[in-house]
Amino acid sequence: MSWPKLTLPTAQDVHAAAGRLRGVAHHTPVLRSSAADKMLGAQVFFKCENLQRTGAFKFRGAYNALAQFTPEQRERGVLTFSAGNHAQAIALAARMLDMPALVVMPNDALSSKIAATRAYGAQVVTYDPLTEDREAISHKLSQERGMTLVPPSDHFDVVAGQGTAALELVEEVPRLDALFVGVGGGGLLAGSLLATKAALPLCRVYGVEPEVANDGQQSLAAGQIVEIALPRSTIADGARATSLAPLAFDIIQQGAEGIVTASDLQLMQSLRFFAERMKLVVEPTGALALAGALHGGCDLHGARVGIIISGGNVDLPRYARFLAD
Ligand SMILES: *Cc1c(COP(=O)(O)O)cnc(C)c1O
Repeated sequence: MSWPKLTLPTAQDVHAAAGRLRGVAHHTPVLRSSAADKMLGAQVFFKCENLQRTGAFKFRGAYNALAQFTPEQRERGVLTFSAGNHAQAIALAARMLDMPALVVMPNDALSSKIAATRAYGAQVVTYDPLTEDREAISHKLSQERGMTLVPPSDHFDVVAGQGTAALELVEEVPRLDALFVGVGGGGLLAGSLLATKAALPLCRVYGVEPEVANDGQQSLAAGQIVEIALPRSTIADGARATSLAPLAFDIIQQGAEGIVTASDLQLMQSLRFFAERMKLVVEPTGALALAGALHGGCDLHGARVGIIISGGNVDLPRYARFLAD
């Protein structure tokens, strides 16, 4: 399979993406919390991508990719596979750029995410994740319909676009010592590394995975991409990827300080912290970065720490249970 560009994106590509997103994506706020500073014994800066368009940073990468389609590609439209936030992001970006969108989603995706994707105007095709292969289905549909496939992480322009959240953070907050980023396929971590390391070579950048989906951590230890069985038992539904995307892995291997993990219980505690102390609605996957900073065993004493709150798309009844438990 061949993507439009085979080389790795650089910090320059993140800057170019930021130019395309200006006035299109929200420049999300950076919030402080004295309670968080106290808990971590550090100065903490939260980049609030839960307040991004479509409720997650994914809009950045999706729009950056679709904005570069040729007129022929635009006419045929875009196709992707995603359990949720990338789906919504592609759907909205396609609508803004006036092109058709088709999204292949697992039939056990949160109904709120399927409904939101349809509401943004995309056509949704569901599949059974236990018996069917989403990439095979996507490639077949893409060939049949002539639609361009834009996967969630393994794409040059998607990775470059995801990096613009960290770029805004390091431009706004001088001298970060550490940055924490949730990890699924690794696009956000890879993009964040490009943006951060160019501006602050000494900043330690950590990925955070769910405990039961620590394929990225295993991959760094092994020096090659490790694929795990589909984890069904984490509340972090946006980070259930079974392996890092190859494009992301190369960048992560070169630059990341490490990948730490967080348990479901720690994610729930972080959700409650965001709701109670910061008045923020955060989805379980969006709380990975804080949970990893708190429980990942990294020395942050006295440091200036960036935390990307990556998304806020909750299923309300489920979210209410997490807060009540
Ligand atoms: C997709 C997603 C992630 C993980 O991003 P990757 O680029 O797949 O590593 C983290 N948090 C939220 C809210 C997401 O939607």
